[in-house]
This record gives sequence, structure tokens and C-alpha cells, in this order.
Amino acid sequence: MNRVTHILGIMLLAFCLLLPANGCASNNSSSIKKVDCTTLRSVKLVIPGTPNITMRTTRCVDYMFALDKMKKVIHMFVEDYSDKFSIDETEIWAMLSGLEIEVSAIPRIVKSAFDVNGKRVKDAHVTGLALSDSHIWVEVKTSQIWTSSLAHELVHVIIWKQNAGIHGDPDHEGDMFSGWKKEHTKFIKQFNRDLFDNDL
Ligand SMILES: [Zn+2]
Repeated sequence: MNRVTHILGIMLLAFCLLLPANGCASNNSSSIKKVDCTTLRSVKLVIPGTPNITMRTTRCVDYMFALDKMKKVIHMFVEDYSDKFSIDETEIWAMLSGLEIEVSAIPRIVKSAFDVNGKRVKDAHVTGLALSDSHIWVEVKTSQIWTSSLAHELVHVIIWKQNAGIHGDPDHEGDMFSGWKKEHTKFIKQFNRDLFDNDL
């Protein structure tokens, strides 16, 4: 185990202990798993019950979300997004088909990003990135998925596909790019609350 991963493990555990009500230390419902590519048969895993949506970690020794929990979360996402934006579920599945979800416990810094209001931020610490319309990166922040930016990045992917693969509206509610509305921001907040209620 390298030192960074070890420290991260300790940090995650410390965070869990700070959250007794819904924390990972108080129940068995942790939604994350430690992975080590030297002991895994495959580093790229297909999330069951999805159209070839895969998950892999950035590093060999890292953390990823548990496959059964991801299955639940993605199904909930498709159902809720379909309800909220009146899009047929099959259409949403088609847009997410073949999506590659890269995860890591190690955060990233990017030279330039936009906040949710469209304001440009330089040298920003990001918790997730939509790298293309079929590749997202999500930081594993705690033992549960609701604290991560997964839902946020999935919304970027859908908007990216709706914009014919041109862009996923990187400035969110800002005016420079189109697609992202206040409703998307609201949807993500509510969706993450629902994940929290479901111990995910
Ligand atoms: Zn974003």
C-alpha cells in the first residue's frame, strides 16, 4: 500500500466516524470498496443491469463505488430524470449507454473551471469532471455516493448528448453555453437527498 492511499484510508475513516447518524462506521451500508488492480481479474467492471456502463479507478490501489449500489443509483437516476424532465427512460438509457465512469479517492485540480453560476474559477479543486459525452471522472469523497458529484456529471453527459456531442454545458447556469437550467441544479440536490434517504 502506498503512503497516499494509506493516508486517504485514514482520512475516509475519520470522516466516517464524524458522521454517526449515517456514517460508514455505524452500519454496514458503505457504498465504497477498496480496490487493488494486482488482485482484481479486471480493472474495468460493467455495472450490472445497465447498457454497458463501466467503472474503473484512476489508480491501481484506489477506492471505487460498490457495483450493487451503483446499479441502484443509476436506475434511480434514470427513473427520476425521466419523471422530472419528461424524457422516456429508454432514451435516457441510450444516452448513458457505454458510459465510462472513472473514480478515484484522489482529488484533481484543473487550470480552469466554472462554478454552478457560470463564474470562471482558476486552479480549481474539482470533485468531478465530464471529460467527454461518454467519459466522466468522479471523486470518492466519503463512504456514500450522495456526497459525490456522480449525479452532477451524469447531467452533463445527458446535456452533452442532447447538444449533439458538441458540449455538456461546462458553465452550468451561466450564459456562455446552453443546456443547463436551474431545474438541473435543483434536480441534483433533490436526487442526492433521495440517495441519502436510501443510505446510498
Ligand atoms: Zn459541472
